[in-house]
Amino acid sequence: MEHHKNANRFIADCHLGKLAKYLRLMGFDTLFFPHIEDDDLVIMANNEDRIILTRDRALSQRKNAPVFFLEPIDTKEQLKILIEYYHLKDHPVPFSRCIVCNTPLQVIEKEEIIDKVPEKVKKYFNYFEYCPACDRIYWKGDHYRHMMEFLEQVLKES
Ligand SMILES: [Zn+2]
Repeated sequence: MEHHKNANRFIADCHLGKLAKYLRLMGFDTLFFPHIEDDDLVIMANNEDRIILTRDRALSQRKNAPVFFLEPIDTKEQLKILIEYYHLKDHPVPFSRCIVCNTPLQVIEKEEIIDKVPEKVKKYFNYFEYCPACDRIYWKGDHYRHMMEFLEQVLKES
């Protein structure tokens, strides 16, 4: 099967942290900075060929800024709009990107991380990925499951 490269790259503005996490969970390259000036956001978006996601109308009306304006406050509604507009349903790659820092995850052998995860995790999980940038270890535990349930609901409604 052909592997689709995700063509859509985003920067979520500083109010859209939750949305950024879900886009990353789907595998989409999404930057997020809790504190960033609009000017820097626009420069970065243009340099890196990214789309700025924002609920800020002033920012969305700036010239020469690749902006996608999101009206809803609700993350689920925001996701639905993006999924539809950018056809994100066609190629999500869940569990492929660090939801905290956006770096692509790498598969890692259980024995390599055995001392770094809680006992229960050791016992019940055998598949792990890790983020080489922020050193987080990922497994498909409760947190992942909850996020995936939310995402699957959104995809179903889209
Ligand atoms: Zn990371």
